[in-house]
Amino acid sequence: MTWTQRQDDILRELHARHDVPMEEVCERIGKCASAVHRRRDKLGLPPRSGARYNTTIWPGHMVAELKRLWLENQLSCAEIGKALGKTKNAVVGKALREGLPRKDARKDAPCMPISEPQPAWVAPIARSCAWPIGEPGEPGFHFCGAPHVEGSSYCADHHKVAYKPYKLPWRAVINNMEAMR
Ligand SMILES: [Zn+2]
Repeated sequence: MTWTQRQDDILRELHARHDVPMEEVCERIGKCASAVHRRRDKLGLPPRSGARYNTTIWPGHMVAELKRLWLENQLSCAEIGKALGKTKNAVVGKALREGLPRKDARKDAPCMPISEPQPAWVAPIARSCAWPIGEPGEPGFHFCGAPHVEGSSYCADHHKVAYKPYKLPWRAVINNMEAMR
């Protein structure tokens, strides 16, 4: 069984394209799988495992397709993987490397660990004023966040208010009293 230069070229080219299944490589060359495998070894081409699910090689057109599907946000990562012949993890990894935005948490919860958006009422980071502004649980509620006064949880302005309890709105005073019971 002789191999023409042309057949060797096709083998080299398609072998590097991990998205082309082995059956197609054989068909294009016109030789059976065992002949192709022997030739591959003779040419020193590395064996490739699972062409359909190779996770490391991303030809340009697949990257483009990944980006399109990802940004459409209609498919889960696993579904995108299926469409591209990749594993879900490969899809997620590649998307991160390509700098694609994280997918919508609701659409794709199991896909990638998306850090939960912090509820507005989570205590602010230390060293900033913890004075609550607005009603907890309502839109726009936040903490002051200005630099705090040494030894206090509040900024200078809010520290003054905080330590003049009778200047607090009555509701807050009553809430405080309720809480202290
Ligand atoms: Zn403040």
